[in-house]
Amino acid sequence: MLKKKKWLKLSLLSLLAVILLAGCGGGNDSDKAEEGGGKGKEKDVLAQVKEKDKIVFGVKNDTRLFGLKNPSTGEVEGFDIDIAKALAAEILGDETKVEFKEVTSKTRMALLNNGDIDAIVATMTITEDRKKEVDFTDVYFDAGQSLLVKKGSDIKGIDSLKGKKVLAVKGSTSSINIREKAPEAQVLEFENYSEAFAALKSGQGDALTTDDSILYGMADEDPSYELVGGTFTEEPYGIAVKKGNAEFVEELNKALKSLKDSGKYDEIHDKWIKH
Ligand code: GLU
Repeated sequence: MLKKKKWLKLSLLSLLAVILLAGCGGGNDSDKAEEGGGKGKEKDVLAQVKEKDKIVFGVKNDTRLFGLKNPSTGEVEGFDIDIAKALAAEILGDETKVEFKEVTSKTRMALLNNGDIDAIVATMTITEDRKKEVDFTDVYFDAGQSLLVKKGSDIKGIDSLKGKKVLAVKGSTSSINIREKAPEAQVLEFENYSEAFAALKSGQGDALTTDDSILYGMADEDPSYELVGGTFTEEPYGIAVKKGNAEFVEELNKALKSLKDSGKYDEIHDKWIKH
């Protein structure tokens, strides 16, 4: 009698164990099902690009020569825009398979990492700090930081900035570098380059600092301004993609190489870059 009871207890316990284990297993299975189905494990960006048959590029809309919205057509134009279209032609076979979304220096990495854009082609320097947050392609353009002043200004270069107000854009390397290179200057930051240039013109600062490539666009727009003092940093531009997309980076690098080999890169360069 006693033995029988013990046996019954044991069998009940094992039954319970079996039910519990099955329960756990079931839970795992349904989690897996959810990953594979509903929410889905996020596809890599290259696969998404191929599926939607277009690349969503984050570009500047206020940077003459690189990415500037033409108010009469509503289209963005510039070196970065033509590079982006040429990359789409290489990767998807047609330069119209693009969508452009506006980014600023401050917003671009967040928009990329949120998945709002597939890649950034927006005067973006490859830096070690940024490499912690995004991946970059090979260099596709070399710029360097400089200063823009009103013609006749007593500012002649980085060494004449003591006590001067220098305008820069939030989220740019320029804003970081200028504090290091001219610690005695006062730095005022703006959201984007059109605001910064408007501020320079309205006398809110003595100089504007960013890449020479961007400053040339401003001097073109208003020839009463000029670049002074040459460049004092190196700003190699790369195309940024979300981390963990090695295949997409590889595809973009292959496309860049083929644009260089075919002469298309030089054609785009000569169209926009005069200095
Ligand atoms: N190339 C610099 C940077 O990546 C300045 C231009 C910009 O703000 O996009 O920060």
